[in-house]
Amino acid sequence: MTTKLIRTPVIPRNKADPTQSARPVSRMFRDIENRYYQIKLAMRRLLDEKLTGRAQASNNQSYAVHGNVIYQVNAGTYIYDMTAAQLADLLQRVQMILDNNLLDGGSNNLWSLEYIIAEYERGTHQAFTNLSVQSPIYEQQTTLTQLLSRPAYLNQIAATSVSTYSDWRLESDKARGDLANVISDAVGRGINPSETAEIVSKRLDVSMSRAKNMAQTEQVGALRKAQRLETEWSRERLGLNTAMIHLSALKPTSRSWHVARHGHIYTPEKVEEWYAEGGNRYNCYCSQIPVILDDDGKVVNPGMVERLAKERAAWQPAPKKSKSK
Ligand SMILES: [Zn+2]
Repeated sequence: MTTKLIRTPVIPRNKADPTQSARPVSRMFRDIENRYYQIKLAMRRLLDEKLTGRAQASNNQSYAVHGNVIYQVNAGTYIYDMTAAQLADLLQRVQMILDNNLLDGGSNNLWSLEYIIAEYERGTHQAFTNLSVQSPIYEQQTTLTQLLSRPAYLNQIAATSVSTYSDWRLESDKARGDLANVISDAVGRGINPSETAEIVSKRLDVSMSRAKNMAQTEQVGALRKAQRLETEWSRERLGLNTAMIHLSALKPTSRSWHVARHGHIYTPEKVEEWYAEGGNRYNCYCSQIPVILDDDGKVVNPGMVERLAKERAAWQPAPKKSKSK
């Protein structure tokens, strides 16, 4: 009697986090929070030192609008005695504070890069494990060290180093523009320094939440890219019939068209195209893992496909319209 060994990919047990990135993402989030905390401290000191003038007795309730948020302020209660040059100098320092924290390490060694590289490694490791389980040929002919040192992999990291720097550069500039508006507006309308500092702090929270979204997109994006690279390479190098199986996060907040792909098979090229469309790559917790198909182009283990189809059918969207995951 012979037992037929069915080699199937390892499906992560946590259905809500198929990329298993909750921990690395929150580690980077803590770093980002700390950076914005440092920015706020420095901004506080800067504003205390540079916003000079005198209070005026009156109480005009007024409103300042920044972004889509309306701030209630006591306008006209403060008279600033600042020259245009002093204001320009202050705004220049704002930029320095933001750049020092958000562009720490510079274009060659940006602080965020270690998190992204870690995800490339993790994605490569996951793909390696999955392909080793499914193919004895792959297992015999591949080492993780070999994967992590090949040129395509290193080029990918170099390219990411450029794009992540440009993402953070953009956010730093955006925050600077926003704070410049807030501060100039406050000085122009006589909003007192402590209220101004308050608005600045809130605007930094808005920037931080954008930064976190960006970080999650970059991290999980790197993990998925590594999975695709390895899928493609196993095809080219060993002639394996490798494709990818989509595992959606299946959260109530998941986008229906992300869930609709759960358990379906795609080529890495198609996955890449899909992530280039619209906002698919933002806020996405889906995973795609390599799966080796049989000679007919089918998944070797039909039971797994059925199980995933059931999970797809059982998914219930959140009742109210809410932010997608
Ligand atoms: Zn998704």
